[in-house]
Amino acid sequence: MGVTEAGDGEYGRIKSTAGIASLLAEGIGDTIRVSITEAPEKEIPVCYSILQSLGLRKTMVEYVACPSCGRTLFNLETVLHQVREATKHLTGLDIAVMGCIVNGPGEMADADYGYVGKTPGMISLYRGREEIKKVPEDQGVNELIELIKSDGRWVEP
Ligand code: SF4
Repeated sequence: MGVTEAGDGEYGRIKSTAGIASLLAEGIGDTIRVSITEAPEKEIPVCYSILQSLGLRKTMVEYVACPSCGRTLFNLETVLHQVREATKHLTGLDIAVMGCIVNGPGEMADADYGYVGKTPGMISLYRGREEIKKVPEDQGVNELIELIKSDGRWVEP
């Protein structure tokens, strides 16, 4: 299945995803092809993302992050980017970045690890629903890596 003449860029990806995912979600189809007006290698990541977002294949880290609000205790966009850059080579993990402990732990669902704003300048690291340690924000990403390593779930990039 695929959407032909989807075009390029963000809208081409959205159009392809809307067409393919709505059929896959109904259990229709067993092969997909994303066709966008870009180099063929740009189509493959879109296929992987569609399959992963529907829960049909898990080939990448699944990132969970809140949208941020007045309670957010750090720059979510920046931290999410840092966490993704540090962990994107891993597979099979769900990692959450949540702005506060008020709603973060409850909303990060069943993520394997969580990076959650605790107090100004401090974040809490979670393993599943368990709070493991509180660390200064500037050590948060490194401490997250150490936590994943201590669980034997880290591989070198
Ligand atoms: S988790 Fe906290 S910071 Fe993030 S949107 Fe929800 S209430 Fe706001």
